Amino acid sequence: MAEMFYDDDADLSVIQGKKVAIIGYGSQGHAHALNLRDSGAEVVVGLREGSSSRAKAAEQGLAVATIEDAVAQADVVMILTPDQAQRTVYAEQIEPNLKSDAALFFAHGFNIRYDYIKPGAGHDVCMVAPKGPGHTVRRQFEDGRGVPAIIAVEQDASGEAWALALSYAKAMGALRAGGIKTTFTEETETDLFGEQTVLCGGVSKLIQYGFETLTEAGYQPEIAYFEVLHELKLIVDLINEGGITKQRWSCSDTAEYGDYVSGPRVITPDVKENMKAVLADIQDGSFAKRFIDDQDAGAPEFERLRSEGQNHPVEKTGQELRKLFAWQKSDEDYQDGSAA
Ligand code: NAD
Ligand code: MG
Ligand code: MG
Ligand code: MG
Ligand code: MG
Repeated sequence: MAEMFYDDDADLSVIQGKKVAIIGYGSQGHAHALNLRDSGAEVVVGLREGSSSRAKAAEQGLAVATIEDAVAQADVVMILTPDQAQRTVYAEQIEPNLKSDAALFFAHGFNIRYDYIKPGAGHDVCMVAPKGPGHTVRRQFEDGRGVPAIIAVEQDASGEAWALALSYAKAMGALRAGGIKTTFTEETETDLFGEQTVLCGGVSKLIQYGFETLTEAGYQPEIAYFEVLHELKLIVDLINEGGITKQRWSCSDTAEYGDYVSGPRVITPDVKENMKAVLADIQDGSFAKRFIDDQDAGAPEFERLRSEGQNHPVEKTGQELRKLFAWQKSDEDYQDGSAA
């Protein structure tokens, strides 16, 4: 059984006694900085000169400094730049300015698991990874709730790393919901596997094939959009609340019977074999290498695939249709990252 932690298991005063540098002010960065500040920790946000986030962080009343200056003052450094940028930011701006006993924190284990960052032996290396987008993490905190987090310690130099990680998680509001103990290796490999095979990769491809099958058979794209994309959220909400069982209970018997007889025709056992192959690439580091090599080359493969995805007909249909829904946030909100 996984080890769980709640508010009573953590001492907020540990993090309140530290100076915390949050590096980056994107989806996770703004949520960490604001939640920690509101929980009584001393926070400084480290950003590049000329970063457009400087004004946003300052507007929220946060102290802002260059990455170098923020790190030099900090007892705890949480690295929340994009995973592919962390290696360079660490080597050039963080490591040369890091106090000899500062703790390093991550929200995803990628750079530690694949050895792109190798911290010196004197540093605690911890992870507090909220299991939700940053904007939800902040909103839930403000509402007195919290998004669960997974927590890990890779290196316990001080002997106090667990107490520090739990205190950080409590300040984030995460232990109001619950924290689960993991390792950097387990978090990294399962996170990549989940997003690649089910949550992002699997679902995206399933939607595209469903949309293509219906429209190629002559059905209206707008109707196809509703049937294979729009309703997905309603189904996922039910699964989130009560598992697949609740989803089947809430749908009609017709839908439930079709689920049993046709689901296995679409998602055949060879899909599971393919999942195992994807997992093997994650475990042996070949996915990480492919991603980072492409990023280092200016991301040509990433940009080509992103553009192909954006040009799929289901995206065009959705853009037009969503404008007609009074309740839907505009696509611009999502594209500039201000809604999540
Ligand atoms: P993001 O892209 O939203 O924000 C990144 C921030 O870093 C921005 O402030 C950006 O200006 C800054 N930045 C970008 N390139 C930089 C560079 N070269 N040098 C310095 N600063 C730079 O990132 P995010 O989605 O918040 O991800 C941050 C970390 O959190 C990652 O490790 C990610 O895996 C993890 N994480 C993200 C989520 C999520 O929902 N977004 C959830 C859990 C964990
Ligand atoms: Mg994940
Ligand atoms: Mg991920
Ligand atoms: Mg239907
Ligand atoms: Mg039913």
